[in-house]
Amino acid sequence: MEELSEVISPGEISEAVRRLGAEINRDYAGRGILALCVLNGSFIFFSDLIRELTLPLEVDFLRARSYSSTESSGEVKVECWLKADIEGKDVLLVEDIVDTGLTLNVIIQRLMAGNPKTLKVCALLDKRAGRKAEINPDYTGFLVDDHFLVGYGLDLDGRHRNIRGVCKVRPPGAEFP
Ligand code: 5GP
Repeated sequence: MEELSEVISPGEISEAVRRLGAEINRDYAGRGILALCVLNGSFIFFSDLIRELTLPLEVDFLRARSYSSTESSGEVKVECWLKADIEGKDVLLVEDIVDTGLTLNVIIQRLMAGNPKTLKVCALLDKRAGRKAEINPDYTGFLVDDHFLVGYGLDLDGRHRNIRGVCKVRPPGAEFP
């Protein structure tokens, strides 16, 4: 069984979520937003973040997949698309982690075809070293090193999503980097 080592505590996450919520409330003051949750990994971050928002809010969900186990396949599959009409709306895409940026790139291109008034991205975690597509979140919780992370919604083969902090994973037999 792999071992986990916490890199971001639940308290640090709460503080970051409050800060991001305050930034979003300030930037969109007087407007409403459509917040989009990128399933599965973002579901906990999304539900915490939207409860920090004091703006008129609609939510919707989409599901994308590019990882198998701890590796990005490089091929992005959008498995489920939103129901909302985004034309003319201020849309905020909420993502758990941006690594290569390929997932967001595909989602953003598809969203732009729906003619939103604005489209911004809020990511809890940004692994900037892994970037292959030119995507930079408008709101970022933490810059993180290039380790595979789990917890706070992030999984390893479906496990560890319920851990309250964010942890790096040490595979069996390996040292923590
Ligand atoms: P990207 O397309 O930017 O390479 O990856 C985005 C998606 O890959 C994220 O939404 C997440 O589902 C998954 N991902 C990227 N890095 C990690 C990681 O360190 N841990 C986990 N559990 N998923 C990751």
